[in-house]
This record gives sequence, structure tokens and C-alpha cells, in this order.
Amino acid sequence: SVISSQNIIDQTQEYGAKNYHPLPIVISKAEGVWVEDPEGNRYMDMLSAYSAVNQGHRHPKIIQALTDQASRVTLTSRAFHNDQLGPWYEKICKLTHKDMALPMNTGAEAVETAIKAARRWAYDVKKVDENQAEIIACTGNFHGRTMSAVSLSSEAEYKRGFGPMLPGIKLVPYGDIDALKEAITENTAAFLLEPIQGEAGIVMPPEGFLKEAYDVCSQENVLFVADEIQAGLGRSGKMFACDWEGVTPDMLILGKALGGGVFPISCVVANKEILGVFNPGSHGSTFGGNPLACAVSTASLEVLEEEKLAERSLELGTYMMEELKSIDNPKIKEVRGKGLFIGVEMTEPARKYCEQLKEKGLLCKETHENVIRFAPPLVIQKEDLDWAIQQIKAVLS
Ligand code: PLP
Repeated sequence: SVISSQNIIDQTQEYGAKNYHPLPIVISKAEGVWVEDPEGNRYMDMLSAYSAVNQGHRHPKIIQALTDQASRVTLTSRAFHNDQLGPWYEKICKLTHKDMALPMNTGAEAVETAIKAARRWAYDVKKVDENQAEIIACTGNFHGRTMSAVSLSSEAEYKRGFGPMLPGIKLVPYGDIDALKEAITENTAAFLLEPIQGEAGIVMPPEGFLKEAYDVCSQENVLFVADEIQAGLGRSGKMFACDWEGVTPDMLILGKALGGGVFPISCVVANKEILGVFNPGSHGSTFGGNPLACAVSTASLEVLEEEKLAERSLELGTYMMEELKSIDNPKIKEVRGKGLFIGVEMTEPARKYCEQLKEKGLLCKETHENVIRFAPPLVIQKEDLDWAIQQIKAVLS
């Protein structure tokens, strides 16, 4: 017998820590862009698990890789080699044009890894005095929920009650090149940024900023580190959001869609001068680089390439943005984004719109109070997108 949605929601309320405020819908099945609740109601997924499901739910090729690998070996730890890690290393390095990769599991862990790499690079290579290394990040950033990541945050609620915070961090306004120049000192190890800020509400820096910031960093011997966990891997209409300005970051942080929404895997990629600072014993993870994650990730990257999902995102995203911009409603403050990574900023809280969209069969989640984020799986068909646009117009007009 099927357990009802209400039972599951009650159970979750009863036993779960209250660190989330989900919409009242239970998903018990999914395929492609569609999800279903236990009662058999179908919804289109317009969130894609914050861009982790770019390849669509349960992509057949990725599920095949998962089940094939699950029937051979799933975990060895890094005490031994496994036969899936080598091929994955080569794949991710060739895709990013970098020498080396370091696999972890979650996005926040990869951010931690990048911070550790940048700090050690500052001491070993740049010759910053001991314990003086600084990281510059941006206001409005989201890099995860670990202590380092919340230490980087400008959001009071992400930090409240969790102090003391990590020292050696400076924040500059996102997109402000002069503030960046001023913040850099001889102790600066890295400038860490999201090329598009997802959680902040699909916020983009002024055009030209990524390139200018990259140039400033190279002149000042500061690492330009891009957190492409949400914006990367096709979401913004390019393989990486930094590609929009022809920038190849010194260090690239990936996660989410790297595991095709099937299995957690994240990583940091960079050249040898940077990631080469790690030696045995300096960093690690029991599950990092496990064969199941690597097999799934290799298939997930192949799907992105074979199905040209970045190009799809650009084409369909451009179309969707035009359609949304044509909606005449004074309560819409701005429609913005790149590819199928679109934010509609309202002049009032967006949650009620998300609730109305859910009634129409579309699952969206508000971000930063007033923004509705539209980020469907990149495999979405034009007909399905047209249906979604119709529903959005019905709610927003
Ligand atoms: N960095 C960015 C840009 C993100 O969007 C996220 C997740 O939303 C993270 C880091 C953290 O990833 P995870 O939730 O897998 O730790």
C-alpha cells in the first residue's frame, strides 16, 4: 500500500530537524523533467535540485552506469586504486583544460578543498608569511554550509549562533572591480566567486567583470577561483559560466550536475603549480573518488557533451527569457539570467507565486524572498517548455 503524502509530511515534521521549509509536496517517482507524488499527481521540475539534475531525472545512460558499477565495486577508499578513478580524472581534466583534479563528495567540501589549496599555495609558492593568507569573497555569495563556507557568507542568518568564524576572509561587493583592487594585499591568496550567483537570486556581475577581475588577479599573483557548482556544467548556456567572458579560472570548483543528480560527487580542478601543493596526508575523504561516483560522473559528463546540453540551455533559455519578459505585470521587477538559469524578481515575496505554480503543476522555489528561480533540467523538450511558459503566464499575468 502507498503511504500518503500527508503521512510523510507529518513524519518529516515529527522527526526531522527543521533546517528546511519545503513546499508541501512529496516526490516518490521521477523521469526526465517530470516528477510524481504518491497519489499519482504529476509535476514539472523547474528547480532541478538546484542544478544537480541538469541531465534530467534518472537519465538512462547514467542509471546504466550506476547499476553496472554497483554490481562490480562501490567503495575501496583511497588506500587502494580503483579502476574508475583514472578514467574520470582524465575526462574532467580534458573537459576543463587543467592538469589535475581532486574529487570530494559535496559542493561545500570542494569549496573547503579550494580554500585549503589556495592557502597552502600562498605559503608554499607565493611565500606569504605563516598564517597571514587571506581569501577575498563577494557579498551575496553562497558557497555551502560548512564552517568555512558560512564564514565567507554575508548573510547574518547563515552565521548566527555558529561563531567563531574562520579568520582571513575579506568581502567585496559582487561585481565591484575597484573594491577588489583595493582589497588585494601581498597576503591575498585567492579571489573566490560564483560567476553567476545562484542562491542570491540569479545575480550576474556587470559585463566584463569576470575578465577584468581575472586580469587583476593575474597581475597581482592572486588565484582566481570560480565556484561553478551551480552555474557550471551547461546550466548558463555554456559549459562553464566563466566561458561567457573567455576566462579560464586558476581553480574551478564543480559539484551538483557532476553526478547527474544520481550520486554525489564534487571536485576541484587546477594546474600542477596549485593542486600540486597537496601531498599524502594533507587532505582526503573516505568516499571521495569512489568508483561508483566516478562511473556515474563519467557518464554524466558524457551525457552533457553528447546531448549538447549547454547549447540546448542557451537556445531554450534565450527563448524562455523572451517569453517571460513579454509578461506585462507591474509586480515583475526584473527578468534576468543566462541559458535556462532564469530569475524573475517580484516586488513582493515570491513564495505565494511558487505555491500557485505548484497548483498548475510546476515546481519552483523562491530564492532570496522575492525571486522565482526557473531552472528546468536541460533535457527539456520545446513542447514541455511551452507548456511551462503557459502556466507561468497564467500565474504571473
Ligand atoms: N556553491 C554553490 C555556488 C552552490 O550553489 C552550492 C549549493 O547550492 C554549494 C556551493 C554547496 O553545495 P553542497 O550543497 O553540495 O554542499
